[in-house]
Amino acid sequence: MHIKKMFLEKKPVVSFEVFPPNLQKSLDSINKTLGKLAELQPDFISVSYPTLGSSDEKSRTISLASYIKQLKVEPMAHLTCINSTKQEIDDQLSRIKDLGIENVLALRGNTPSGKAEVNVRGPYQYAVDLITEIRANHQFSIGAGCYPEGHLEAQSRTQDLAYLKQKVEAGVDFLITQLFFDNNDFYNFVQEARQLGIKVPIMAGIMPVVNGKQIVKIATKCGARLTDKFTKIIDRYQDNKQALRDAGIAYASEQIIDLLSSGCDGIHIYTMNRPQTTRRLFNNIKSVVEALKIRGK
Ligand code: FAD
Repeated sequence: MHIKKMFLEKKPVVSFEVFPPNLQKSLDSINKTLGKLAELQPDFISVSYPTLGSSDEKSRTISLASYIKQLKVEPMAHLTCINSTKQEIDDQLSRIKDLGIENVLALRGNTPSGKAEVNVRGPYQYAVDLITEIRANHQFSIGAGCYPEGHLEAQSRTQDLAYLKQKVEAGVDFLITQLFFDNNDFYNFVQEARQLGIKVPIMAGIMPVVNGKQIVKIATKCGARLTDKFTKIIDRYQDNKQALRDAGIAYASEQIIDLLSSGCDGIHIYTMNRPQTTRRLFNNIKSVVEALKIRGK
């Protein structure tokens, strides 16, 4: 099913994201993880794409998306385009289609240096180039990434939003945000996007914290601002795994309930391949999601 259609049928849409393990690890563990995540019956599960990985590693994204389909959950394959040839992209899209996967998250991807202008080769400079290509030649429902606090490389948030509009006009059906910790950043972003005429659904990307060091690293890498409330949690409980996990899940639950109560189109949970944490978070928000789906809001 096209994810675009899900938004028309029943909002809010709730999804999970996983990442493929590297080649040193077998697929057994991630397959078990996916089995447990599928039991929660999210609207879809997406699989990230290792831009800097080998072709075998990239191939795992598509294999896992296909496995998700076997579990009777809608899959979405991420695909990044930076430093790819047209042939490579065509081959990946053909494989995605042949396996019956109907949804693609079309992204640029990060370079090793994190700077787009360095070492870019191939016909695809930005996500918009990939989106244009997919829209012209394929039937996928297309998602794209967006950044409530502005993308790290953007000259300004205004400039970033203008490029986002171009991206959406090239054929995007829905957007998913990078993780954020302050809902006000999301609300301001959605308001500005709507004022610019960006009408597609915008899903909020939320990551439950379970490990202090990891979250600081991720937030620094993607530029997400840590709130005082969140920093206090990390500082206070970083030496106590159980307490940090409980507090992190509570923080993410509160974020999601506020987002849903404010009419957010959907929630995308960055699971970090942790089914237990995801289950606990999901249980905290389940009745709220169901109440909204029943009302058809
Ligand atoms: P773009 O939309 O191309 O934007 C990149 C930068 O270029 C921005 O600063 C933008 O303002 C600017 N820009 C855009 N268009 C133009 C233009 N026409 N001219 C000049 N400047 C322009 N990365 C992975 O490697 N694998 C994944 O699976 C993955 N999944 C992700 C999932 C989500 C939901 C999100 C939000 C991000 C994900 N990323 C993933 C990270 C993403 O690849 C990086 O954030 C990357 O740096 C930007 O990707 P983009 O598609 O948003 O880029």
